[in-house]
Amino acid sequence: MDANRRRYRCPLCGKQTLFFLRPDTEVRNLPVKCKTCGKEVVVNISPSLSH
Ligand SMILES: [Zn+2]
Repeated sequence: MDANRRRYRCPLCGKQTLFFLRPDTEVRNLPVKCKTCGKEVVVNISPSLSH
């Protein structure tokens, strides 16, 4: 397991890991459907360049 990656969990139920992120991952308006709660969320993630 790459220590630089972290899990992006569903913001609604907090149980399902939707995908993995790198520190420089950038996501804009990505619709992802959670298998656990069955709802779709739109994900926006800015790369954490400050770290
Ligand atoms: Zn969920």
